[in-house]
Amino acid sequence: MIKRSFSRTKRPLIKKCFFCQSKTQPDYKEIDNLSKFITERKKIAPREYTGVCAKHQRKLAKSIKRARHLALIPFVSQIH
Ligand SMILES: [Zn+2]
Repeated sequence: MIKRSFSRTKRPLIKKCFFCQSKTQPDYKEIDNLSKFITERKKIAPREYTGVCAKHQRKLAKSIKRARHLALIPFVSQIH
């Protein structure tokens, strides 16, 4: 049997976690920070793309959802 390695061809653009490096926590009030981790379609960007660690990705997802609920960040990009 051949063991499959789960290495991805896509490399993260930012290698280390943004929040670990800057020693900050994701906050729903800091929209400028949160918008870095949102795709064009306003979806929460996957971890392998942004390079955020598991701990901070969980907090990030929660704070993005919180910001959406408070109408600080749109749920979807504008539909024509
Ligand atoms: Zn982190």
